[in-house]
Amino acid sequence: NYSAAQQYIDGVFAQMKEKNAHQPEFLQAAEEILLSLTPVFEQHPEYIEHNILSRIVEPDRIISFRVTWQDDNNKVHVNRGYRVQFNNVIGPYKGGLRFHPSVNESIMKFLAFEQIFKNALTSLPIGGGKGGSDFDPKGKSDAEIMRFCQAFMTELYRHIGPDVDVPAGDIGVGGREIGYLWGQYKRIRGAYEAGVLTGKKPGYGGSLARKEATGYGLVYFVGEMLREKNESFLNKTVVVSGSGNVAIYAIEKAQHYGAKVVAASDSSGYIHDPEGIDLHALKEIKEVKSERISSYLNYRPNATFTAGCNGIWSIPCDIALPCATQNEIDGDAARLLIKNGVKFVAEGANMPSDLEAINEFLANDVYFGPAKAANAGGVATSALEMSQNSGRTSWTFTEVDEKLQEIMHSIYAQSKEAAEKYGFAGNLVVGSNIAGFVKVADGLVSEGV
Ligand code: GLU
Repeated sequence: NYSAAQQYIDGVFAQMKEKNAHQPEFLQAAEEILLSLTPVFEQHPEYIEHNILSRIVEPDRIISFRVTWQDDNNKVHVNRGYRVQFNNVIGPYKGGLRFHPSVNESIMKFLAFEQIFKNALTSLPIGGGKGGSDFDPKGKSDAEIMRFCQAFMTELYRHIGPDVDVPAGDIGVGGREIGYLWGQYKRIRGAYEAGVLTGKKPGYGGSLARKEATGYGLVYFVGEMLREKNESFLNKTVVVSGSGNVAIYAIEKAQHYGAKVVAASDSSGYIHDPEGIDLHALKEIKEVKSERISSYLNYRPNATFTAGCNGIWSIPCDIALPCATQNEIDGDAARLLIKNGVKFVAEGANMPSDLEAINEFLANDVYFGPAKAANAGGVATSALEMSQNSGRTSWTFTEVDEKLQEIMHSIYAQSKEAAEKYGFAGNLVVGSNIAGFVKVADGLVSEGV
């Protein structure tokens, strides 16, 4: 019983594998979505007729460029910069910039591809893109970061604009970097186009609550998941990986709702504080001093530090929130979490669970919130920042936070309803993939070839 829809999807995926043979992360992200789409193509023969899938998996364009910069000893370095403009059916390309030595074309394409459907789920007018560089910000001075950002923007500026493509932050790119990128864009363009970048600091066009939005949004999303099962955050044990923007504000909001968050991590290892993380200490270490996470023991001598990251998933918890990076939970880590009683997992990072891990969670009655739905609060608030910039206005923290809560509620409802409609009730992976995909597919059909 091999349907025409299945045959079509398999055919497109086979072609993708040939064309993108050395891009495992991109193929992984694509496969996860394609696995959800059979019932969609069965119910929408027009998508096959218009060859929608082949058109969605091929980026509009990939820009790659040389970034030359000088360190504090006048030594000249060369890095590679990227911007993947994947799809602009719903709005200008939108998505973060990642500065990390692991950055390559596969990682850029997986992130940009995910961003298309995530951004569609927000119901705001933003398409999908992503960019970055293999530059390693670790150990660089402030002046070096500034010079790198200026060199990066000196090339990137010609490809972006408030109605064209709107970058923001991601791993290695926060408020400071956005500031330097913005300054250089403004200098070159000779115009104050505030809406060209988001994640700016409040005071020169940034939105209040943008910094908190991904973490808060994640916790609002998990709140919906908990409510569904007649549960709440109160007294739940939570493990959060990461200690960047997403992790810190997820911890803050989860603690606000009465959860006990017992772990956090960075690329050097993880801390376990069974009494509950001292967030003030963690913020000081990460936001003020930029130190390694082991410094946490100076504030809380009874906590433990373990080198290496995978072990964090051996800590028993009710709720796991992976907020570090892609593929941080594999099948083994998922089985360990399940054995230790995890009931809810929601992704703050992009694609932190691999396919095997996702299947373990779904098969073992763990309620699973996938990244493109659960972490969409960041980019949604970026779109709110764009609105404020266009309207030459700024909203209060509470106004933005209320909009964010509404958006997360709507993303949850759309994902849940799409799953039910297409015969996968309770599966938010399939639900969010379908809900996001259908919007983009309908847009493409309307546009014509
Ligand atoms: N990097 C974030 C994400 O993965 C935010 C992107 C944005 O605000 O444009 O969604």
